[in-house]
Amino acid sequence: MSDCIFCKIAAGDLPSEIVYQDDRVVAFKDIRPVAPIHILIIPRKHIPDLTAITEEDAELIGYLHLVAVKVAQEQGLADRGFRLVNNCKQEGGQVIYHLHYHLLGGRQMRNLC
Ligand code: C5P
Repeated sequence: MSDCIFCKIAAGDLPSEIVYQDDRVVAFKDIRPVAPIHILIIPRKHIPDLTAITEEDAELIGYLHLVAVKVAQEQGLADRGFRLVNNCKQEGGQVIYHLHYHLLGGRQMRNLC
């Protein structure tokens, strides 16, 4: 989508600190980190939010989780542990309407909200 910030980041049209990318998934550092390690993991495909996924996306969503674990390992979080979060729509706290997961780590996680 031409007016989507995360589509532009995935396309390289907006600057970001990319830590992983392939033909389906991109991972980059969040510009306002809330943890020592805060990385956003997105599909290149523009999916507005989690409720918009279809059967067709099942493999992609599973693959995105494999990438999340790979990035967590690369960031030294696999043994320590980490949190993987999706904010869905308004009450879920979603601000950017391109499906993304927050990979958070490097400190003890406590509350869920
Ligand atoms: O899940 P939610 O939509 O609330 O999160 C969006 C995230 O995208 C925020 O953590 C924000 O800091 C991040 N962001 C970013 N780079 C941008 C715009 C937003 O990392 N250019």
